Parts: sequence; C-alpha cells; structure tokens
Amino acid sequence: MNQSTAVCADIDFEALASNVGLIRQIAGCDKQLIASIKANAYGHSVVPIAQALQDLQVDALATGSLEEAQLLRQHGIVLPILLFAFADTELTIGAATEGFIPTVTHFQMAKAISGSVKSTTPVYLKIDAGLGRLGEPLDSARKWVERIFQLPNLEIEGIYTHLPFSDAKQRDWATQRLQAFDRFVEELKNAGYQFSVTQAMASCCLLARLKDHCNAVCVGHALYGLSPFSWPGSIDVSQLRPVIKNLKSRIIHTSRHAEGSDIAVGGLYGLKRPRTIGVLPTGMAHGLCKPVEGRDMTVLIRGKRAKVLSVSLEHTTVDLDGIEEVTPGDPVTLLGLDGDEEISLSSIADAWGVQPLEALMRMSGRFSVRSMNTSDA
Ligand SMILES: *Cc1c(COP(=O)(O)O)cnc(C)c1O
Repeated sequence: MNQSTAVCADIDFEALASNVGLIRQIAGCDKQLIASIKANAYGHSVVPIAQALQDLQVDALATGSLEEAQLLRQHGIVLPILLFAFADTELTIGAATEGFIPTVTHFQMAKAISGSVKSTTPVYLKIDAGLGRLGEPLDSARKWVERIFQLPNLEIEGIYTHLPFSDAKQRDWATQRLQAFDRFVEELKNAGYQFSVTQAMASCCLLARLKDHCNAVCVGHALYGLSPFSWPGSIDVSQLRPVIKNLKSRIIHTSRHAEGSDIAVGGLYGLKRPRTIGVLPTGMAHGLCKPVEGRDMTVLIRGKRAKVLSVSLEHTTVDLDGIEEVTPGDPVTLLGLDGDEEISLSSIADAWGVQPLEALMRMSGRFSVRSMNTSDA
C-alpha cells in the first residue's frame, strides 16, 4: 500500500489566508511578514502551503532545511528564502551560492562565507537576545556586528533574534528581551549600520501583543492556527483558525466475532458479547500511536465514535460496536468533523500524551493533501 493514499488531509487555504490577515492586522501594515515554513510547514506539507503563501504575498519564507528550500524552488516558489541556522559552514556557503539567504551565527562562518563567495552575498545576522541557543549574545554583539561589517563580499541584509516562550508567565521575560534587542538595533542604526530587515517577533510575541520597532515579523505557529502556548493564561488565541481540517483514512476490512471468541486484538479475549472489528490501512508507519495508559483514542465512522483497539505498524483496529453496516471503503475521520461529532488535534495529542504540534509532526509527510476550497487546484 502506498503510504500517501492511506491517509488524506484537507487543508483549508481560506483559514491560512485568514490567519495571515490576522497576523498582518496585529503586526501592523508597515511590518514585513516572513513566513516560517520549517519542518514541512509544521507538518502541513510545505509545497502547497508555500504556494499559497506566495499567492498571499508574504515577503519571504524561512526554513531550517536546505532540502526544503531546494524543493520549493523546484516547485516555482520565487520568494526570498531565509535559512535559519541549519548546518556547518561548508553547507551554508553552498546554500548561499544557490541563492538562499543564510543565517550567520558565528564569526568564523561570516569569514568563511566572505572568503569563498565570488560576488556580494546577502546574509542575515542572528543575535541571541536571551534564549541562549543560537547567535551572538547581545552583550558582545556590538563588536561582533562591527567586525562582520568589515568583511568583504557580504551584504548584511538583515538582523534578527528569536524569543519563543510557551507560558504566558514568560511574557515579562520576552518583553524585556525584545526591548533590549530593539535598543541594540536602534544603536546600530544610529551608528550608521543599515539593515533592510530587522526582526524579533515570532508567534508568541505577536499573539501576546508585544511591540517593537523592527520592520518585520517571522511567524510560524499562528499561520497554521496553532497556538505556541502550552499555558496561554491571559493570551487570547481564539481568532486563529486551524489550517488542517480533516485527516481521513478508510475501512479496508471488517470482521464479526461471536460471544466467547478468544480474539487477541485490543486484549478482548473471551468476548462477553459479539463484536465487530474494523481495520484501517493506517498505523505507526503513518505516524499514529497507541494512546498512553489510561487514555482512549477514538475515530469517527458514519458520524459515530469508534474506539481504537490497537495500532500496529501498518494497521489500526477499531471497535465498531453500535455503528451499523460499516463496509470496506467507508471513510474514517481521524481528525475533523463527521456529522455532529468532532475529533480535535488537541484530543489526539491528549490521547498520545503530547502537544498538538508534536502530534501533527508524527504524521507529517505521511498523508496526501487535498484543498477544501474548491477554487484551488
Ligand atoms: C521557528 C522560528 C520562528 C517562528 O516561530 P513561531 O513560534 O512558529 O512563530 C521564528 N524565528 C526563528 C529563528 C525560528 O526558528
């Protein structure tokens, strides 16, 4: 069985457009929008998402994967593509030569790019304003920027930082770090260092309605209607619309078992009453997982909930108790609406004991994509 046909997703491009509109409204119309499409567009399938974002006229795309960036060029994406820090210096030079915009995170990298490229090459500088991960720490960043500006062959197009947080309680931390970065960029500008792009706000800062003087935002989560917060507290994310609407599989087999049957599936040995079992051609190979101890996972068949009994490599079995006349070929909703019932991404994530984005990432790249909006191809 071809994996891509085992699960099918409906992508709501109108919801994507609505989220882009919301982001632009919060950010203000003078801010450029860099759309983060890393990790296969947060599991949504990078090619159709990038095509839609290009139609929505975002200013640039950003990813941490050179392969993803190359794939987009093969599919007619002409937007500038920023590469977040993704590899060692040699690969980064290669990426710059191919026309992608690399992120410089340390001086040796800037020097190596400067010494290897044949013509002026655009780069972005990454400042660590407090996360403690990539880039030059703010305290020493002034000298660092000055040294990089002295290198030949580099066009220092942008400067940015990243301040993600997942708990509304960290809003003060982000506010303070954002202001520090903002001041730093102002100082650089006053000293004559010019950047066409300055950027510090991702989904968290934006949705928490923080303010800065940068001229761009770089947003991922919010584009896809995903909340970046595990503990949102007072931060309102209700206007975001989920972009992945349905994940559908289907029934490939059903079997009826008499009372007393010793069937092993789902540990049902010695059935106390007759049962009907349905089988889906979808399993761990497609990112599905067993629910964690003490939790249930359900799917929707004919508008009714069916409990998942087992998940194996290529199959999932469900209990068809109380659902009449299910036959092979019937659709099975893993995520989304069927009649009055709905399975949300957060309920799947709950069953698996993970965050919604993690649940989506498990299934990323393992489904084929359809558009819900008939005007799209
Ligand atoms: C992923 C990423 C973003 C976007 O973050 P979201 O929380 O998804 O909006 C912005 N900047 C950098 C450096 C990133 O890695």
